[in-house]
Amino acid sequence: VSPREFAEAGADLELVGITKRFPGFTAIDDLDLTIPAGSFFALLGPSGCGKTTTLRLIAGLEEPTDGRILIGGKDVTDTKAYQRPVNTVFQSYALFPHMTIIENVAFGLKRRGVKDAQKLAHAALQLVELDHVSSRRPSQLSGGQQQRVALARAVVNRPALLLLDEPLGALDLKLRRQMQVELKDIQSEVGLTFLHVTHDQEEAMTMADTVAVMNKGKIEQMGAPQELYELPRTAFVATFLGQSNLFTGEVVSSNAESVTVDSQGAPIVVPKDRAARHSGTITVGVRPEKVTLSTGAVAESAGTNILGPGRITDVSFSGVSTQYEIALPGHSTITVFEQNTSISRMHRDGDEVWLSWSAEH
Ligand code: ATP
Repeated sequence: VSPREFAEAGADLELVGITKRFPGFTAIDDLDLTIPAGSFFALLGPSGCGKTTTLRLIAGLEEPTDGRILIGGKDVTDTKAYQRPVNTVFQSYALFPHMTIIENVAFGLKRRGVKDAQKLAHAALQLVELDHVSSRRPSQLSGGQQQRVALARAVVNRPALLLLDEPLGALDLKLRRQMQVELKDIQSEVGLTFLHVTHDQEEAMTMADTVAVMNKGKIEQMGAPQELYELPRTAFVATFLGQSNLFTGEVVSSNAESVTVDSQGAPIVVPKDRAARHSGTITVGVRPEKVTLSTGAVAESAGTNILGPGRITDVSFSGVSTQYEIALPGHSTITVFEQNTSISRMHRDGDEVWLSWSAEH
């Protein structure tokens, strides 16, 4: 059995105008979403934004107040949960403790009377590299191994769509990072459609080919991880996906290429195609790793934004990079990351520094 055989039915998912209201509360607000077949899609957002509710609607465990759900072009809105071509992997592995690993994986297949259930279950265990422990019981496996068994048990059913609800949430950090890579490999090997829900931005960015950032029941922005990181459209996306220094001010001038924003008396230049508006108040964001620190005043040059002087209030060394916190009069604390070159070039707590970055950032 080749891994691809598990994905014969991999399908696209379409949510059309999905709304879910609970008494006195709208959890999902007119959501439109299309996930292409075979993609690894992450739904990312803070606690309470509606991620789990969205998955439960797709799985058929919750009924939408409004809207339609299509899987592989087929309207399943009124289809019972057990009849939908969907499987879910939860944070708790929910393996049957009294059954062996192979029995756990083959269980659903056998119940449906699938021929070759045993053979398929072994193949699914090979996929997650656990066939050698097939006769053990769940309690004799580590957390990461149990989660891989849960994955094998879901994949073996060949769901058109696999839903993953914080599947790595119970694992420690190191194991989680390792499982992120493994999950991604397994997904690309079987080609199933994965919809992964998480509040961990790093997890979403490392694994998914498309990420949708959700906030208060709506999708704020959707795109490839790098696109969301480099070109966030809102302050929420900019700060939820990594760190960002934000400056709010009035647009004071504008030409064909750029707009200039006054932030506490300092001009900040932004390329015109990056600016949400060309007049009024706007918020400008710059990533900590794009800012350069200098001990002397920086010579002015076109296309460079310069702020300062500020004072370093905190230095944290983390091996590959150093994080500086800088107090800049009139602004909130600025964060800057610098790649470590040599200790002698590091700035120190209390140093006076100037900040600069290229306007394109
Ligand atoms: P988390 O990451 O914490 O699991 P989430 O993004 O998955 O959060 P949901 O579980 O989808 O969030 O919940 C979205 C909102 O809907 C929350 O504010 C929650 O309190 C509310 N909610 C969920 N289920 C119900 C319910 N049965 N009745 C009323 N409100 C509900």
